[in-house]
Amino acid sequence: MTDITGTATGATSAPAAPPRRHEHWINGAAVPPAGGAYFPTRSPATREPGDEIAAGTAADVELAVAAASAAWPAWAARPAAERADVLHAVADAMAAGAAELTELERATTGKTDGQLKLEIDMSVAYFRYYAGVLRALHGRTIDLGAGAHAYTRLEPYGVIGAITPWNLPLNQASRALAPALAVGNAVVAKPSEFTSTSTVRLARLATEAGLPDGLLNVVTGTGPEVGGPLAAHPLVRKVAFTGSVLTGRHLAGVAGDRLIPVTLELGGKSPVVVFADADLDRAAAAAAGAIQANSGQVCSATTRLLVEDSVHDEVVARVVERLERLRPGVDFGPIITEAQFDKVLAAFAQAARDGLTPLTGGAAYDDGPGAAGQYVRPTVYADVPPTHPLAREEVFGPVLVTRRFSDEADALAMANDSDYGLVASVWSGDVARGLRLAEGIQAGQVAVNGGPLTIETPFGGYKSSGYGREKGLEALHDYAQTKTISLSLG
Ligand code: NAD
Repeated sequence: MTDITGTATGATSAPAAPPRRHEHWINGAAVPPAGGAYFPTRSPATREPGDEIAAGTAADVELAVAAASAAWPAWAARPAAERADVLHAVADAMAAGAAELTELERATTGKTDGQLKLEIDMSVAYFRYYAGVLRALHGRTIDLGAGAHAYTRLEPYGVIGAITPWNLPLNQASRALAPALAVGNAVVAKPSEFTSTSTVRLARLATEAGLPDGLLNVVTGTGPEVGGPLAAHPLVRKVAFTGSVLTGRHLAGVAGDRLIPVTLELGGKSPVVVFADADLDRAAAAAAGAIQANSGQVCSATTRLLVEDSVHDEVVARVVERLERLRPGVDFGPIITEAQFDKVLAAFAQAARDGLTPLTGGAAYDDGPGAAGQYVRPTVYADVPPTHPLAREEVFGPVLVTRRFSDEADALAMANDSDYGLVASVWSGDVARGLRLAEGIQAGQVAVNGGPLTIETPFGGYKSSGYGREKGLEALHDYAQTKTISLSLG
């Protein structure tokens, strides 16, 4: 018999094995927590306890930062081609260890096979991409006339603290680690306490693949006990944070006090704008796909569907029809943390109190396969007032809200009526109009007619979605600082 995750279940007389423990990874080795404590993980697909992870403290952070601080100068001094070779070897090791990474990720997130494959493949691709482009990264020469020679160098910061969330664990770690390492930094990573195990395994694989000790350290534990001391550590020269606005604001304050840079990849309430002349089926598929993908637990999910009045009902009906075909555990996964599951259900309760009725969904599963875990029905609320929290706040679950617009100016105003500005999607048969909208929307990425957004395309927020850029060549520049050297030839 198998459960919803495909794991074998059934009665057995053998005593339960003690939970597996995952230690920190510091200076190229597994290191038990200084405080000796561990805490359990839990499968959101079954609600059963899983492996235990080390409960880190400031003492573990101290050890990891010391190792990173000792390791980076020699790494930064190596030719780019050598660093690139090592990062290619890390990518190879991740690809070879994909089954193991997948199982660790599945255990803590309950994701579907398709979603897991996508994320693991992309994690490997981050290392390959930055290993490749690293060799083409150069400073500039600056013409100051015949009597001088001036040039720039991109130099690493030294030790980077990388703090990541639970929704796309390995993927978000790789997105930060690969460019940070590529330009010669060392990293101390602090994954989410709910989903740490794949990042620890990545660090082990990297060490086994030849990444020198101390360059990639992982300290697991809670935000206040590990993330806080990491961001505040005097030897950490930059923080890369992906997570909520609340924590991002706090870390921006810490970084501000310390006068160190911080990349903030925060939340979103991104619009998908559909004009009547668009390919409505493709647009509806994309709108439904944004809710299906990782059950809407994606910062860049386009969760506000803005549709031209004349086709609003038709587009929304097509989205609903697609969502109602999806099966929990097969087509979409659970809500990953218990607190987030409760938060999504609280949003439904609030909507009901305010007289909003979903066209579909609006509840968890109380029977069938979805009832075993934290599965939420894909949900659509139509014509949500623009001031309602459902229309303004990130739910971080499979919840789409719709509004109707009358013309291009109205569409642009609605798209920008948000505190966030992470991504947007525009659908129109008139490409010039699509591009006008794209240029007017206040967001870091805009896809017109399903334009792909990939590792090559820089990613990051406007407004409360944060600042700094990941992906693309921009990330290499974000993890390096520019030095100018000028020589008088006279
Ligand atoms: P969160 O802010 O609660 O936690 C993120 C990370 O910060 C975790 O590792 C956590 O332990 C750590 N942390 C918490 N408090 C801390 C503190 N005081 N000091 C230092 N570290 C601390 O976010 P979450 O709930 O894990 O993730 C969901 C949020 O992340 C959503 O808002 C989502 O939009 C956002 N997100 C953004 C992106 C992006 O690229 N823009 C990607 C994924 C998720």
